[in-house]
Amino acid sequence: MAPILLLLSAICHLIVIVGLTLHPTDFLIGTEPQLSFNRTDLHSASLDFGKMTSIEPTAVLHPSSAADVAKIIKLAYESGHGFVVSARGHGHSINGQSQAANGVVVQMSGSSGAPVAPVVSEKLMYVDVWGGELWIDVLKSTLQYGLAPKSWTDYLYLSVGGTLSNAGISGQAFNHGPQISNVHEVDVVTGKGEVVTCAENKNSELFHAVMGGLGQFGIITRARIALEASPQRVRWIRVLYSNFSVFTHDQEYLISLHGQPSSKKFDYVEGFVIVDEGLINNWRSSFFSPSNPVKISSIADGGNVLYCLEITKNYYNHSDPQSVDQEVDALLEQLNYIPASVFTTDLPYVEFLDRVHKAELKLRSKGLWDVPHPWLNLFVPKSRIADFDQGVFKGILGNKTSGPILIYPMNKNKWDAETSVVTPNEEVFYLVALLRSALQNGDEALTLERLSDENRQILKFCKDEKIDIKQYLPHYTTQEDWMDHYGEKWPQFYKRKMEFDPRHILATGQRIFEPSFISKMKSW
Ligand code: FAD
Repeated sequence: MAPILLLLSAICHLIVIVGLTLHPTDFLIGTEPQLSFNRTDLHSASLDFGKMTSIEPTAVLHPSSAADVAKIIKLAYESGHGFVVSARGHGHSINGQSQAANGVVVQMSGSSGAPVAPVVSEKLMYVDVWGGELWIDVLKSTLQYGLAPKSWTDYLYLSVGGTLSNAGISGQAFNHGPQISNVHEVDVVTGKGEVVTCAENKNSELFHAVMGGLGQFGIITRARIALEASPQRVRWIRVLYSNFSVFTHDQEYLISLHGQPSSKKFDYVEGFVIVDEGLINNWRSSFFSPSNPVKISSIADGGNVLYCLEITKNYYNHSDPQSVDQEVDALLEQLNYIPASVFTTDLPYVEFLDRVHKAELKLRSKGLWDVPHPWLNLFVPKSRIADFDQGVFKGILGNKTSGPILIYPMNKNKWDAETSVVTPNEEVFYLVALLRSALQNGDEALTLERLSDENRQILKFCKDEKIDIKQYLPHYTTQEDWMDHYGEKWPQFYKRKMEFDPRHILATGQRIFEPSFISKMKSW
């Protein structure tokens, strides 16, 4: 690849010298086997899970190594006109975050698998993986050694680089922190095309910048992820509440046990809101038994909203089943859920971790997966979560929704303040994830317009009520809003951008920084 990219670089320099106005990516056509101009490739790189926006790149790079990624970025960085480059993991963003208008999308996850296979160190309990590796494949490779990562997302068909660029959270985060708190080291290709290995104590500024960095500082080509001995089975429990403050009190109690020995705490704490009778058997709640239906109206405390606490206890083949029961019972005894609302199932660890994929297959079979997803994810400070409940769950949402609404607290002390992520300024904050699908089934309440409007109302409500939320998987369209989002972290974020991607080449789909050559581009 090297000689041709050198030639391309020379051509770009020539353009600057002789003043031609062609776009640099025009010269990429027909040169590299890894670069695709194929219509299907361009089209699929223009789409994401959100299905609300579509912008085609000029080309798609299928890298076979970090060196390929470095070459394309160096070319963009050094060429007179410049062009943008965005990594794309599995394309599971909502608002076009991995798009590259008039530029190159680097397709990190591919159907043909990662260019570099995972390498497990049993002794040091870590795995080295390609940045585009999907978490499901990370899991499969570590299980061969009886090991597994500690911190997860609910869904495993996401790329390592994609979730580390956000944070990567699930019900284990209260205990282990987000995925970015469980990474030893990464290789990053910066916006200057340099490949840099970084860690907490080595090139630490870049390491912290890329963790939760929304792809702004470099493309992660390798990550070293911490492992633990993998449990084999999971006791998965759901209990219901009609009273919000009792529900949150119990959730907060459970996450306060993070420092306790594993026999004295759950391994996973999540929860969800049920505002719609039909949703009691939705894709997140599939194990409420159809033979034991729960009628919201029969147990809800005068209102139409129920809350479900979801907890798990991991165990090993060698664990004594009786002691697992005793540990679970001792923890449940401390909680104040609705008596007789305990739903329990027991399943292999892998099946638990991969639970959303099962739901995906069901939704796909009904044509309900590839639809617009106006998702909204918020971190809400603990002190205002009751106000949020009143105003949003019992107010704006009404009694109809088309997707799960997750709610669970996390401990801020498990998040490294040096990373690029911003969270509310309180020791405990909640994730509220409105994971709704827009449907065209004739129901006005479920249209994209209606759901998007509700999202706007929720954000306005928080602003008017001065609830200091932070968006997770944030989406803004002006730099002013981004500055507001980062707050006191903005100067550091900006300084890091100037250092690691001074031409603003990377991840422009996030719409934080305009490329420095914007005036020469047709659109951004
Ligand atoms: P993409 O959408 O392709 O990319 C996201 C951003 O990261 C883009 O800006 C891109 O340029 C950048 N990027 C991608 N790869 C790299 C890389 N190697 N180096 C640098 N930058 C890169 N998130 C959670 O935290 N917890 C969950 O439980 C969870 N569940 C989800 C369930 C579903 C069904 C879906 C669709 C999403 C879920 N997410 C969850 C959100 C998910 O973390 C984000 O969508 C994330 O962006 C990962 O998706 P991706 O790998 O497809 O990345």
